[in-house]
Amino acid sequence: MRVGIVGAGIAGLTTAWALARRGVDVEVFEQSAIPNPMGSSLDEHRIIRHAYGAMRGYALMIPRAFVAWRALFAETGQDRIVPAAATYCLRMETDWYRHVATCLDHMGVAYRNVSAKEVARDLPMVNREGVLRVVETQGAGLLRAGDVVRDLVAHLPRHGVRLRAMEEIVSLDVDGGRLNGEGFDAVVVAAGAWLPGLLPGLAENPRASVQTVVYLQPPSRLAAAWGRAPMLLNRLPTRSGGVYILPPLAGLRLKAGDYDHTYEGDPSAPRVPKVEHVEAVLESCRMALADFDEYRVIEAKSCFYTVTENERFALRRIGARGWLVSACSGHGFKFAALMGLSAAEGITGERAEAEVSAFMAGRLTEDVLPSG
Ligand SMILES: Cc1cc2nc3c(=O)[nH]c(=O)nc-3n(C[C@H](O)[C@H](O)[C@H](O)COP(=O)(O)OP(=O)(O)OC[C@H]3O[C@@H](n4cnc5c(N)ncnc54)[C@H](O)[C@@H]3O)c2cc1C
Repeated sequence: MRVGIVGAGIAGLTTAWALARRGVDVEVFEQSAIPNPMGSSLDEHRIIRHAYGAMRGYALMIPRAFVAWRALFAETGQDRIVPAAATYCLRMETDWYRHVATCLDHMGVAYRNVSAKEVARDLPMVNREGVLRVVETQGAGLLRAGDVVRDLVAHLPRHGVRLRAMEEIVSLDVDGGRLNGEGFDAVVVAAGAWLPGLLPGLAENPRASVQTVVYLQPPSRLAAAWGRAPMLLNRLPTRSGGVYILPPLAGLRLKAGDYDHTYEGDPSAPRVPKVEHVEAVLESCRMALADFDEYRVIEAKSCFYTVTENERFALRRIGARGWLVSACSGHGFKFAALMGLSAAEGITGERAEAEVSAFMAGRLTEDVLPSG
């Protein structure tokens, strides 16, 4: 079987990995250099965590996501997860805690409420004003995203995958299985934020969205505390709903980003972070962190991902020989190894399309839980 993949981001690369280990002949086409510095996948870190709020199906898929990463790391020879607790600082009443507690109890994942005294002692960077509850959850960590991508780029050609950089797919025939006129048994579209431009009119209505992140230098008096800090995930009464702050562990930088979506933007345009986007992230940081004026912004970065209204992953057939692989959300990296394996199962016919599709949309798992 010969498969052509559009896009050498994490989704295209893990699909190539999973197909190649089944003996499939794979070519990956990338419009840019490989890896593409403008792709969603090339950043220092991405979060992996069990606590998923109301998206219960995805919480229940996390153990399988870890198994998939371990399988990939065993082949590339590098474990790229930096363990870190995910600590949620809640400043507003929602049903998030009830959903998460039900899920984590069901999965046997440890979590606990952190007392105000412990927050003052162990998390001196947290602004305690307005905090209603702090919940520490285990089974989480930082995926060294850029390293994972680079490992795959080095690993795949050794296993027969051809990575074709600077080859933009301008002609896509999902029925005939043709990419720029070249024929394949199956073609996979893993185009990330470029998907809406390449395949307009998809049922999911994916849209490219700008996501702004800032890298920060903490004050030196907090360096030791940050060096053993968890990921701080803050629910805030702001337009974006909160800010995530990733600690500077294992050589990674302190980073913050919010959950706002622009639902528009051109991922190929020069990336200049908008002042108002940077300000919004910093404003959220000011609410989440004590003495935030002592922090220095090292870099602000404008990133993109594809997002849909319901933020469920799309893994499905498009046309007689085409497949769509898209996270359609800001939570795709943590599931990418599992997504690649599921895509390969669907493409090779090992599992029915309906099954892999429902599984990656989080629908097979979500009914397992009591309503909480
Ligand atoms: C700021 C930010 C924070 C995030 N945080 C998290 C997190 O904490 N946890 C998590 O799990 N996920 C997170 N995500 C989401 C995750 O990073 C994405 O879901 C994932 O990287 C998407 O990978 P992809 O391969 O689909 O897209 P990309 O990495 O963008 O790859 C798509 C590739 O396709 C190429 N391409 C497109 N069109 C063509 C064409 N016509 N011809 C050839 N090549 C083409 C592009 O050049 C690109 O390289 C975050 C994303 C962002 C931006």
